[in-house]
Order: sequence, then C-alpha cells, then structure tokens
Amino acid sequence: MKLAMIGFGQAGGKIVDKFVEYDAQTGSQIVRAAVAVNSAKADLMGLTNIPKDQRVLIGQSRVKGHGVGADNELGAEIAEEDIDEVQGAIDGIPVHEVDAFLVCAGLGGGTGSGGAPVLAKHLKRIYTEPVYGLGVLPGSDEGGIYTLNAARSFQTFVREVDNLLVFDNDSWRKTGESVQGGYDEINEEIVKRFGILFGAGEVQAGQEIAESVVDSSEIINTLAGGGVSTVGYAEEEVEEQSSGGLLSRLRGGGEEDDLDTAHTTNRITSLVRKAALGRLTLPCEIEGAERALLVMAGPSQYLNRKGIERGRKWLEEQTGSMEVRGGDYPLKGRGIVASVILLSGVTNVPRIKELQQVAIEAQDNLEDIRSQSETNLHELVNDDEDELESLF
Ligand code: GDP
Repeated sequence: MKLAMIGFGQAGGKIVDKFVEYDAQTGSQIVRAAVAVNSAKADLMGLTNIPKDQRVLIGQSRVKGHGVGADNELGAEIAEEDIDEVQGAIDGIPVHEVDAFLVCAGLGGGTGSGGAPVLAKHLKRIYTEPVYGLGVLPGSDEGGIYTLNAARSFQTFVREVDNLLVFDNDSWRKTGESVQGGYDEINEEIVKRFGILFGAGEVQAGQEIAESVVDSSEIINTLAGGGVSTVGYAEEEVEEQSSGGLLSRLRGGGEEDDLDTAHTTNRITSLVRKAALGRLTLPCEIEGAERALLVMAGPSQYLNRKGIERGRKWLEEQTGSMEVRGGDYPLKGRGIVASVILLSGVTNVPRIKELQQVAIEAQDNLEDIRSQSETNLHELVNDDEDELESLF
C-alpha cells in the first residue's frame, strides 16, 4: 500500500529516512511521500533521503532550533502552534494517491512524543484516509523521564490514531553496543518488517501475480478497529534460480514435485510459527489478539496456497480470533522466504503495564522533588538563624 510518512522528532525522522532508502533500494513503492518534522535544526540536517523541502522546523520562536530537551508537553504545544507549517508540507502530497498516513515517532523524547499525537489528531480531522502511528518505546535503561514521556504519549497517541503499531527498543537492545550503532540496526529491523508488511499488495511491474495476493484493503481491514498492533517476522534463505519454474515444469509433476510441494508447505508453516512465537516488535501474549494478517513473501515458486492456509489456521487457533487474513507477496531478488505477521488489537501486554508502573513512580518522584525544592533551596541560601540580610 502507498503511504504518506511523517517522521516526528529525531527517531521518527531517522526511521522515515530509512524507509525512503528501503523503498529506493527495493522498488517496493510504499513511500508515496515523506516529511520530517522537528524542533531541532541539527536533527533535520542529519537526514539524508527525505527531500530538503520536505523537512519542517517547528517552534523556532520558542526554542530557536535547539529542540525541546525531552519536554513532551512543550513538544505538544509547539506542534499545535505550528501545525500550519506542517500542513504546508503535507499540502504538497498527492493525498488522493495514498492509502494511509503513517506518523512515526520515538515516544520517550520530547518533540515526537508530544507532537506526533497532535499531528495525528489534526490529520484525522482533515482527511478521510486512515492515520496510523508507528510509536517506538524507549529502552528501560533510558531512565524515568523517558519512561514517563512514553507512557503519557502512548496513551494519547493510541487515542488519536486509527491504529498504533508499536516497536519496543527495550526488547531489541543489545549489550555492549554503541547507542548509535544499536539504533542503526534497530531501524533496519523496523524498516524490514514494516516494509514487507506494507509492500504486500503493491504489485510491481515485472513481478508475477501470486495465487492469493495480499491486497492493501486486507492490511487496512486488519488495522481497522483500532488499538495497538505488533509485528512478528521470520525468514529463511532460499536459492533463487530463474530457471526454477522451468525445471519443475520439465520434471512434469512426478514424485519429486510432490516432495517439493510438501517441503514448501512445511517451510511455510514453520516460518509462521517462528514469526508468531519469536520476537515481536512489541512483546505480548498473542492469545486474545483481535485480528491478524499473515503475509508470506518470497519468490513465487516457494509460496503455496496450502502452506499459507495451514499457517492461517494455526494462527486462528493460537490467537482465538476468527478474523485472520492471509496471502502472499511475491518478492524476487532477496534470496529469502519471509513470514510477516501483523497482530492487531492486542491487549495482553505486560511490557506496557510495567512501563506505566515505572512512569507512575517517576511522576511521584518528580512531584516530591518539585514540592520540596522551594523549601530545600530556602534552607540552603539562608543561614540557620537568619542573621544575614540580602543586599536588596
Ligand atoms: P525527539 O527528537 O525529542 O522526539 O526525541 P528522540 O527521537 O531523539 O528520542 C526519543 C526516543 O526515541 C529515545 O528515548 C529513544 O528511545 C528513541 N530513539 C532515538 N533515536 C532512535 C533511533 O534512531 N531509532 C530508534 N528505534 N529509536 C530511537
């Protein structure tokens, strides 16, 4: 499906920038337009793929291009004040050609955390196309204020979008890695998963038409109904020979062909299980997910209807949902067969409950410090017996 992507804040901008790169490299045609919005000029300048005239600096009169310093209330305020400037960039997008908006942001910081929900609300008021969010949760080692920001932003963002796709940095963090190097790898992972998911349904010139191809409307219907979504992924390398189809045709449906079919079906079912039971973008219990979509991507000779049908049935059993869609996405040239599972309307998410708990503790702690701060400063500045007098 074709998306208008808006990256809010540093993380959001970098992720959209990476989507644009992915789109150019793979020809998947999912990014119909890309916009970056930030209150920090340096962050906008650091982007490489989003066109310069599609980068919007907001809050100049308030923060002079230096960012909001993890103050997400200020982030929300300046987004509201300068929403016309953001709209100015969106006006350049041929919205009739996009299937949906995707607003991306890191929820732990300031600009994206505060601004992304404001923008989502604005877009929903103006356009009829669905507005999805891609929200990144901070690592648990980032500290109380980031957790508090994320918990508050999460709550607001879910309310303002048609569906919030969540990626949790915490479950993807590797020890001993530089923060930047870590983010690069994490962003690759985000773009790979969501790239294949949203790429399904965009049939490109030269690609074969698959047996039961996933259509954009199936992605939209899986996301419709709102709430929170998570994505599972698993892949296996396969050999891609252009003569593959021809060879099997020449063999003429003998015993080997049956073996091939059985092997393909088994590979698909095990990839579906690995994707659903492996690391999700937001770890959660898959049982109870309201809707799901299975996308099997790969060269068409490695995809078959039977495997996808089996995988889909298995997902129905595991989630307990009767609304599980599935189909394929013919994908040549990457040497992989991949299974992408979108689980939408997940509600059993211990990570969110834990985040909220830490956020409440951080909020109480901040309030305590603030309420005592005046007394503490008074005690420091004045001598015990009040013998000293100030100058004026
Ligand atoms: P903002 O510019 O004020 O919106 O804040 P940032 O986007 O810099 O940071 C917000 C949060 O996003 C941080 O707490 C990190 O958890 C996360 N973050 C920052 N940069 C990246 C990135 O490149 N990739 C990912 N996945 N997360 C990031």
